[in-house]
Amino acid sequence: TNWVYGFGFDATEGHDIDRDRLGGKGASLAEMARMGLPVPPGITIIADVCRYFYDNDKRFPEGLKEAVEAGLRQVEAATGRHFGERKKPLLLSVRSGSRVSMPGMMDTVLNLGLNDETVRALAEDTGDERFAYDSYRRFIQMYADVVLGLDAELFEELLEERLSELGHHQDTRLSAAELKDIVTHYKDFLEEELGESFPQDPYEQLWGAISAVFSSWTSARATTFRALHAIPFEWGTAVNIQAMVFGNLGNDSATGVAFTRNPSTGEKALYGEFLVNAQGEDVVAGIRTPQSVTEAGRIASGSDRPSLEKLMPEAFDALVKVSARLERHYGDVQDMEFTIERGRLFMLQTRAGKRSAGAAMKIAMDMADEGLISRSEAIIRVDPATLDQMLHPTISPDYKGTQIGSGLPASPGAVTGEIVFSAEEAISAHAEGRKVILVRTETSPEDIHGMTAAVGVLTTRGGMTSHAAVVARGMGVPCVTGAGNMRVDRFANILHGIGGAMMHPGDRITIDGSTGRILKGAAPTQKPALSEDFQRLMGWADDVRRMRVRTNADTPGDARAARDFGAEGIGLCRTEHMFFDGGRIHTMRRMILAETEEGRREALDQLLPMQRADFEELFAIMHGLPVTIRLLDPPLHEFLPKTAGEVEDVAQGLGMDTDALRHRLDALYEFNPMLGHRGCRLAISYPEIAEMQARAIFEAAVAAARMTGEPVVPEILVPLVSLRAELDYVKARIEAVARAVMDESGMELDYLVGSMIELPRAALRAHEIAETAAFFSLGTNDLTQTTFGLSRDDAPGFLGNYQKKGIIERDPFISLDFDGVGELLKLAAERGRTTKPDLPIGICGEHGGDPVSINFCEGLGLDYVSCSPFRVPTARLAAAQATI
Ligand code: ADP
Ligand code: MG
Ligand code: MG
Repeated sequence: TNWVYGFGFDATEGHDIDRDRLGGKGASLAEMARMGLPVPPGITIIADVCRYFYDNDKRFPEGLKEAVEAGLRQVEAATGRHFGERKKPLLLSVRSGSRVSMPGMMDTVLNLGLNDETVRALAEDTGDERFAYDSYRRFIQMYADVVLGLDAELFEELLEERLSELGHHQDTRLSAAELKDIVTHYKDFLEEELGESFPQDPYEQLWGAISAVFSSWTSARATTFRALHAIPFEWGTAVNIQAMVFGNLGNDSATGVAFTRNPSTGEKALYGEFLVNAQGEDVVAGIRTPQSVTEAGRIASGSDRPSLEKLMPEAFDALVKVSARLERHYGDVQDMEFTIERGRLFMLQTRAGKRSAGAAMKIAMDMADEGLISRSEAIIRVDPATLDQMLHPTISPDYKGTQIGSGLPASPGAVTGEIVFSAEEAISAHAEGRKVILVRTETSPEDIHGMTAAVGVLTTRGGMTSHAAVVARGMGVPCVTGAGNMRVDRFANILHGIGGAMMHPGDRITIDGSTGRILKGAAPTQKPALSEDFQRLMGWADDVRRMRVRTNADTPGDARAARDFGAEGIGLCRTEHMFFDGGRIHTMRRMILAETEEGRREALDQLLPMQRADFEELFAIMHGLPVTIRLLDPPLHEFLPKTAGEVEDVAQGLGMDTDALRHRLDALYEFNPMLGHRGCRLAISYPEIAEMQARAIFEAAVAAARMTGEPVVPEILVPLVSLRAELDYVKARIEAVARAVMDESGMELDYLVGSMIELPRAALRAHEIAETAAFFSLGTNDLTQTTFGLSRDDAPGFLGNYQKKGIIERDPFISLDFDGVGELLKLAAERGRTTKPDLPIGICGEHGGDPVSINFCEGLGLDYVSCSPFRVPTARLAAAQATI
C-alpha cells in the first residue's frame, strides 16, 4: 500500500486519491499545489494508517517509516533545507485532517525539528534571533501539551509571570535574550514535571507528534464532536507533515483566515482576519482580537487598526487573486488559512466555508445569478432544516434598553438567557431546563459541550473566525464574539460591561448575533422580514416540486402565519384545541358530564355557535384553499379536572356534588387512554358530538361561501379508524347533517369525508377503507406509536439510550422509520389506490416537516405534506429537493 502521498514538489501525487483517505486538509493542499498556488511542500499519511494504528495497539504499519523518510527527502529537496541539520534546518508542522472538517477538535504541532542546536541555526539563517527563540518557546509549549500531556496553560502562566516581571504588555515585546531565558525556564519546568528532558532528537519529535495526532482522533472533544455530527470512528484522520512558513518573522509577516464571501451575511466580498507577527493558532484560538483583512471590513467593524489591504498591499492582492481562483475552482465559498512570510503569501488550507443559514441562501442565489452554479444546484445548496433559523428574531430596533456591551455579529439570532461562565455550568443549568448564555473570554474546543447546552454564546475576545464563531454558526446558535468592551472576571465571577455594569451568574442578558448588541435583561424581539432571496428561492422550489405543502393549524393565528409562509391549505385542523378556550371548557365539561343524551345535546347546542365561528374564520383566512378538519380525537377525560383541588373547583362551578363528579371521573378513567375510548370510537358512542361538529363545519361553509362568493369545499377527517364499518357509520351521520344543512340553507355543498390512516389495521385494509373514504391522511405520529407498540410520551425516557447504544439511529417520532412504519405507509398508498387510482393522500404529523421524511413521501407519490406553520418553508424546499 501507498501510505504516504506528497504535495508541493514537482509531481504532486494524490489527485486521483479521494479526500476520504487524504482527509479534507490533505486533499485541499494537494489540489492547491496542483493549481500552482503557493503551498509549502509536504506529505500526507492517509487515514487508513489511523485505522491500522487503533487496530494494532497504536503501532504503525510496516514500511511507513521508510515512506515518511523518503517523502521528507523530497520536501528537503524542494525547500533546500534539511530536517534536524545544523545548517538551514527544515522545520515542520504536523497537522491532523479527517475527511470532514472538525475545526480545532484535533491536534497540530508547529515548529517541529527545533532543538538547542537547530534554534541557533535558525537564528543565523533568518538573522533574527528573537524570532528563533520565540518559535522554540512556542514549540516546547505545544509539544508538551499535545504530545507529552502537559497543559499548555501552565506554560502560559509562566510566560505571563515573566511578562509582568519584565513590565511588558505583550509577548511581541520580549527581547531575544529574554526569550532565551524563558526557553531555559520552560525546559527546566518540563523536566521537573515529567522527570525527563525535552526530546532533542527531531525524529523522536516527529514520531511523537504523528502518534499524538492519531491519538487525538479519540480525544474527549473530538469524540463529542464526532457523536454530534455522526462521524464514524472508522473514518479516522490523516496526518499532514508540512514545511513551516513563518508568520512571526517580524512586522512584514502575518497569519490569518479568510472567506471568499462573508460567512455571516453572505455578502460577496473577501472577508478575513489576521494578526501581524503571529503564528498559527493565534487567530482561530481568539487569543488576540485580530485585524480586518480588507479596508471595507475594517471600516465596518469600526476598528482603527490597519487592514492587510493597507499594511501589505502586495500580499493582499495575491490573496484576492487566490481567493477568486479557489472559489471558481470549487464552485463554492472557501474558508482559507494563510500565512505571510516576509511579504510572501502562502496558502495552508482551504475548505468549503461554514456559513449562517442566511448567508447560505444569499450565496446560493448570488452564485446562481453569477452563473457559477445552476438553479437546481442552488436549491440543493440550502439546508431546508435551517430555514426556520432564518425566521429567527432580532432585537426590536426601537428598543433602547440598557446596552452593556457590543461585539462582532458572529451567528445570527437574538436570545435571552442567564449567564454562566463555564461549559459545566451550562450543562447542569440546561439539565434543569434553564436557558443560559455561555460567557467566555475565548472559547476553546473543549467548550463544545457547553455550547450545545446554551441558547447563546458570548466571548470577549476573538474574531468572526474564532472557534466559537465557527462552531456556533454550524449549530445555528446565536453568538457574539470579541466584545472588547466587556471583561470576564473568573475569580470574582463577574461579567463587567460598559457603564460600570456588573453581571453575576444567573443574571439575564440578551445577545443579538445579527448586530452584535448585548443588553441587560430580556429585550423584545421581532421577526425579520423575509428577504427577497428567500422569496425567490421559494419561488424556484415551488417551480420544481410536485407535492403540495399544507399546514397543521388550529387557530386563526397559525393559519395566517402559515399562509404568509406559503401554505397551500390546512392539512390538519385539530378541533380539540377549540374546546379549551375561556368559557368553552366549562360548557365542554357540562357536555361530558351529562348523564343523558338530552343533557349532552343541550350543552352541544351551546358549543355549536362557537365552533361555527372558528371555522368561518379559518375558511375566510384560507380563502378557497382546502381546509381539512379532524373530528374530536382525544379521550373525553382529557378535558376533566385531575387534582383534588381542581375537582372541588369544577364541581362548584358546575353546581355539582363533588362526590358525584368523582364518581363520573372514575367511570371515565382509562388504563391506556392512547389505545382507549378516543377517535372515531367517541363518534360511535356519542354520535351527537360528531353531528354538532359536522353542522358547525357545514354552516360555516355556507356562511363563508355567501360572504366571499366562492364555494368552500370542507374536508372532514375521521380519526383512529381501523375498520371500514367504523368509517361507514360516522360518514352516514355526517351525510345526514350535510343534507339537513343544505335543505335549510337552500345551498348545495361539496364536501369530502376522509380517513386518518394511523393504525396498522387501517394501512393493511386500505383498499376497503378507500371504498368509503374520499381521501387519506397518514397520521404518522399514532402510526409510529402503534407500529412500534411504543408510547410517544414515555419513549424519551429510554429512546436516548437506544441511540447511545447504537440500537436505533434516529428518533422515529422525529424522522420516519422507513423500514417499518414506512412499509405500512407504502402498503396503505398502494392498496388505497388500487380501489381509487386518484385517491388524494397526504401526511400530517411531525414527519410532514422533516426533510428526510419528506423525501420519502415523494417516493410514495403522496399529494401533499402538512406541517406546523414555521416548517412550511422547510417543507417547500425539501419537497423541491426530493424531485432533483
Ligand atoms: P486546525 O485543523 O485546527 O485548523 P491546522 O492543521 O490547520 O489545525 O493548523 C492550525 C494553524 O497552524 C493553521 O491555521 C496555520 O496557521 C498553522 N500552520 C499549520 N501548518 C503550518 C505551516 N506549515 N506553516 C505555518 N503555519 C502553519
Ligand atoms: Mg486549519
Ligand atoms: Mg392521531
